[in-house]
Amino acid sequence: MADLAQLRTEAEAAVGAAGSAAELEELRVRYLGRKSELTQALRSIGELRPDERGPVGKQANEVRRALEGLLERRTAELDASELDQRLTEDHVDVTLPGDPPVPVGHLHLVSQIRRRMEDIFVGLGFSVVEGPEIEYEYYNFTALNHPPEHPARLPQDTFYLAEQVLLRTHTSPMQVRAMELKEPPIYIVVPGRVYRPDTPDATHVPMFHQLEGLAIDEDLTLADLQGTLLAFARQMFGEHTDVRLRPGYFPFTEPSVEVDVSCFRCGGTGYEGSERCPTCKGEGWIEILGSGMVDPNVLDYVVGSGYDKERVQGFAWGMGIERIAMLVYQVPDLRMLFDNDLRLLEQFGAGP
Ligand SMILES: [Zn+2]
Repeated sequence: MADLAQLRTEAEAAVGAAGSAAELEELRVRYLGRKSELTQALRSIGELRPDERGPVGKQANEVRRALEGLLERRTAELDASELDQRLTEDHVDVTLPGDPPVPVGHLHLVSQIRRRMEDIFVGLGFSVVEGPEIEYEYYNFTALNHPPEHPARLPQDTFYLAEQVLLRTHTSPMQVRAMELKEPPIYIVVPGRVYRPDTPDATHVPMFHQLEGLAIDEDLTLADLQGTLLAFARQMFGEHTDVRLRPGYFPFTEPSVEVDVSCFRCGGTGYEGSERCPTCKGEGWIEILGSGMVDPNVLDYVVGSGYDKERVQGFAWGMGIERIAMLVYQVPDLRMLFDNDLRLLEQFGAGP
C-alpha cells in the first residue's frame, strides 16, 4: 500500500516546480492518471480490511482533491505569467514613428494648383461642383450652341464611346447641367478632367484638367467678368498683376474674350534686364483663358423656368489647370506633369 502522505508531499513539490503546461499534464497523468499510485490505491480499497477501508478511502480522496486543486491553480498561474510575458515582449508603442520612418506624401502639383484655384473662387462667393467625365454629346456640344457641323464634334477631336456619348472635351457641359438643377442666381466653378485625342507634345496631352466658371444673375456685365478674373489673377500671380481682354470667339459665349494677365515674371515689361523674358516671350502678357458673356442661345437650352434671357445674363470662363501650374512653377513641358518622375513630384512637395 502506497504511503499517501509521502505521495502527496512529493506530488505537491513536483507540481509547484512545474514550469509549463506540458509538464503539468505529465504530472497530472503521473499522479492522477489511470495507472497512478493514487488511482490504484482507490481501486484496491475493496481488498483492505473493512476497518481500514473508511480511513484509507477518505485520505486517498483528500489527496486526490488536493492534487487536482493544486494542478488547477498552477495551470492558472502559468497562464497568467505567460500572458504577462507576452504583453511585455510584444509591447507596441503606436505613437513611435515607423522604422524606417514612412515618408509623408503630398499632393501632386496639379492637385495643389486646383485647390488653390478653388479656394480663390470660393473666397469670391463661388461654389465648387463637379460633373460627369462621360457625357452626352448634347451637353458637351448641342446645348452649348455648337452647330451640327462644328469641327470639334468630329471623331478626330473628340473621344466617342458610343453614338452621342463621349468623354467630355471641356468642363463646360456643367454650365447647362448646373442651370437645369438650380434657378438663378448661380455662381459655380467646375474643376475636372477633360479628354481630347491630341498627340502628346510640350503643350498637349490627351487628358488634362480644366476649371470652368459660370455666373448667372441679373445685371451682370463684362466688367463683372473682368473684375472676377482680376481678383483671381492677383491672388494667383501677385497683387500687381493686370488683366487684359481681347476679342475672341467661342460658340457658347457672345461676346467672347481671350484673357491675358500681365507677366508676373518681368512685371509686364517683356524684358529681364536686356534679355527677352522667357515666360511671356517678350510680350509682357500671358494668355491664360477663354471666356465671355453666356450666349443667350445657351439659356434657351436650359429646360425649365427661371432662365429668362430677357432678365438674367451670365459670364463664363474655362482655364487649363496645368497651364496655370506650368506658368506658376515654370514647368517647361506639359508631359512632365504626367511622367510621375519623383524628382519633379518631390520638387513641388507641399503639405496635403
Ligand atoms: Zn514676362
